[in-house]
Amino acid sequence: MSPTTYTARWIVPIDVPPIDGGCVTIADGRIVAVGAHQPGLADIDFGDVAVLPGFVNAHTHLDLSGARGQCPITGDFTHWLRRVIAFRMNRTPQQVQSDIGSGIAECLGFGTTCIGDISAGGTSWDLLQAASCRSVVFHEVLGLTTERAEGNLRTLDADLARHQPSDRSMAGISPHAPYSVRGSLFGELANRILPTAIHLGETREELELLRSHTGPFVEFLKELGVWDAAGLVANPEAILHLFPNGIFVHGNYLDSAQTFTPGQTVVLCPRTHSAFGHSRHPVLAWLERGVRIALGTDSLASNPDLDILEEARHLHASYPEVGPTDVLRMFTQSGAEALGLDAVCGTLTAGKSADLVVLPLARDGTSDVVQNILQSRFSPTGVMWRGDWIFRHPGFPK
Ligand SMILES: [Zn+2]
Repeated sequence: MSPTTYTARWIVPIDVPPIDGGCVTIADGRIVAVGAHQPGLADIDFGDVAVLPGFVNAHTHLDLSGARGQCPITGDFTHWLRRVIAFRMNRTPQQVQSDIGSGIAECLGFGTTCIGDISAGGTSWDLLQAASCRSVVFHEVLGLTTERAEGNLRTLDADLARHQPSDRSMAGISPHAPYSVRGSLFGELANRILPTAIHLGETREELELLRSHTGPFVEFLKELGVWDAAGLVANPEAILHLFPNGIFVHGNYLDSAQTFTPGQTVVLCPRTHSAFGHSRHPVLAWLERGVRIALGTDSLASNPDLDILEEARHLHASYPEVGPTDVLRMFTQSGAEALGLDAVCGTLTAGKSADLVVLPLARDGTSDVVQNILQSRFSPTGVMWRGDWIFRHPGFPK
């Protein structure tokens, strides 16, 4: 296929500063050049828009995409968890597949071309294999008691044996959280050389549970018949230590002085963080120390939609001290790095996949394109994955 060159008011490659009136050339599903515009070079001019790399939603639960508005956040965290469990129990396998399909479609429409999905039972694998996006399917594993840990590990190994990596999807694992996974299971899973995502330091109650084996989680786990105090790890550091390349989701109550290895990532879910009314997040202290931060939408059990750009805008509005360029990197380059996919996506760079998002700019906004992106309310009007348009507004230039 012959190359096509696109130009726009701004090209925003992420790994280098935005290019005023730059252009991107693609051929055979790949980016072949990014740079300054030269007269007569462009085949198509998108006009007064920004062109960005396809977005990365580093943490969601597609199988909960039917839970929008079904699990109101009231009382403590374990009350909400009870509602999520009740929702799951009432969902048929067919409904779960339909929920996953609608969740994928919603992600794509919001410009996400790379998804980190936490998947109970690996149920999103087949649909993500067929979807127009790249993904890591983190097979969720629970087991605080020895019996559950052993049984679930056997199921995981059987699922992983069937789910071989392809050019669009690969398997990861997600030991769920310190309150639901025993220390020996974390240790066993650390031996698997796979992308790993763990909910960590999400609530004060989780830390209380690990520290003193008290608090609302005790009642909650007893109610489920899975309480085993002897299975709990001693503290979050024990888990951080086991997974030097792990993705740690939330981290709301980890110490701001907490250190991370260069391979580790913290994923923030800003709107879910606000919905639960958590304390101020230590994100700024970690960014200042060079910790990799990515963004996720979490699930529709705690969030109104799967719009990753809205997560970035919410973070920008509620934490204005975090640099806008840092925010932009979180749901592009850093997300791709977290998922181990930065060689193929996350920036507009020659050689990478032609995954593009076309985003209108506010005319009366600031002249700083990054501020403009984070302060406007526009959604993408065009989304390209591997050189094919997977979403275009009517009237989009062809
Ligand atoms: Zn989550």
